[in-house]
Amino acid sequence: MANKKDFVKEITARDDDFAKWYTDTVLKAGMADYSPVRGAMIILPYGYQIWENIKQEFDGMLKKTGHEDMTMPLLIPESLLVKESELIKGFAPEVAWVTQGGTEKLQERLAIRPTSEVLFSDYYARAVHSYRDLPLKYNQWVSVMRWEKTTRPFLRTSEFYWQEGHTVHATAQESHDETLSVLDMYEKVINQFLAIPTLKGQKTESEKFAGAYQTFTLESMMADGRALQSATSHDFNDKFAKAFNIKYLDNKGKQQYAYQTSWGLSTRIIGGLIMVHGDDRGLKLPPRVAPTQVVIIPIAPNEEVLQAATEIMTDLQADVRVSMDQSDKKPGWKFNEYEMRGVPVRLEIGPRDLKQQQVVLVRRDTGEKIVTPIADVHTKVNELLEEIQANLYQMAKDHLDANIFTATDMTEFKKQLGNHRGFVKAMWCGDPKCEAAIHSETKATARCLPFKQEQLSDKCVYCGKPAKKLVIWAQAY
Ligand code: AMP
Ligand code: ZN
Repeated sequence: MANKKDFVKEITARDDDFAKWYTDTVLKAGMADYSPVRGAMIILPYGYQIWENIKQEFDGMLKKTGHEDMTMPLLIPESLLVKESELIKGFAPEVAWVTQGGTEKLQERLAIRPTSEVLFSDYYARAVHSYRDLPLKYNQWVSVMRWEKTTRPFLRTSEFYWQEGHTVHATAQESHDETLSVLDMYEKVINQFLAIPTLKGQKTESEKFAGAYQTFTLESMMADGRALQSATSHDFNDKFAKAFNIKYLDNKGKQQYAYQTSWGLSTRIIGGLIMVHGDDRGLKLPPRVAPTQVVIIPIAPNEEVLQAATEIMTDLQADVRVSMDQSDKKPGWKFNEYEMRGVPVRLEIGPRDLKQQQVVLVRRDTGEKIVTPIADVHTKVNELLEEIQANLYQMAKDHLDANIFTATDMTEFKKQLGNHRGFVKAMWCGDPKCEAAIHSETKATARCLPFKQEQLSDKCVYCGKPAKKLVIWAQAY
């Protein structure tokens, strides 16, 4: 087996240069590549399969809770986009415009959707008449475009894939409940499927989605201690209903405004998956999302070995995503390759193993080798996949817990961030001026007002005035 040095020749060591390590891994693992379009990427099959697995998992939850898939157009007339003033103010710098069709200059510019609230609202204004029409719980899996200044594969691209859910309800309570119940579903996918721990909370006024009444978020910590906003869920209350005149007759025959939500999970989370679990060898995929869960590598294979390997593969295929590499490349090369691609379990079988009716199973998360009788392989593999899934979550959780600090004054705050690059919990008076000042002095942003509030002190960490809320601060991607 090659030693660590041989790997770093190909993938920059994580601790040497985290950013370089990240892009090396994305490119080497064949997840994505650069494209001729500014800030947009090519998502290659290995990356796309991961997205499809996430999509399938989350879409299943959506369907079970009465959400329906549909699709809106890609383009938004300018007159429609500007209808909700806060939304357009927030998104204006990021909108890409279509100004010409064929050889003709358009009368009205068309925006390439940065998000589709206005299209849904325009439709709801026409579709919703009576309380009997409500709720409508729609979702679309599409790509959107935001003219981002700095871009990085998966984490921040100009065009990105996501699902955007848009619902409309009869009451403020219902839209509020929907916003939080979707946040819980995101939490499930991100924690249990992607093995990424998250902190749940509300965004501050200055960090919330443009046009939202309240924004809720899941924040995760990357291996370098920085935060990634992993999914967001917005309650619009009746703000869009007022801008778009979405009204219905209630059961007493009275006109009422409707209440809306929207929520999104994007391909950004794949960046999170890489940055939470990966190591110097490359990706480390949690089994539930891994396109290949087990790779079989026949060693010095003769006919009997190949036959046994094929039988094992056929048997595993019943409930495991398994593949076999029969190419004539050296076993050492294959070991590196599949480690780099993050395949959770490697199964080695050679003539000597076969003679003893056994195989060697190797865990990607710990490197542990487990000699297993062929008769037990299927049970053992399933056991290992469960263990690896749990272990990856636990390692990430330990890292998160070990890198959350508290600060009661700015000297402490800066010391903590400077020393560790983690999350800092601190009290806040609620004044956006303090929030802005902290940001300019530390580059940290208010990630959220966590649902789990604590009373660290009575005073705002910045101005010393009476504190209202606990905030989690971090530098973010
Ligand atoms: P938003 O509509 O801004 O609340 O974003 C919805 C989801 O998409 C969040 O999970 C964001 O983290 C993610 N997201 C926002 N901008 C980008 C981008 N440029 N590339 C990838 N994901 C993004
Ligand atoms: Zn303050």
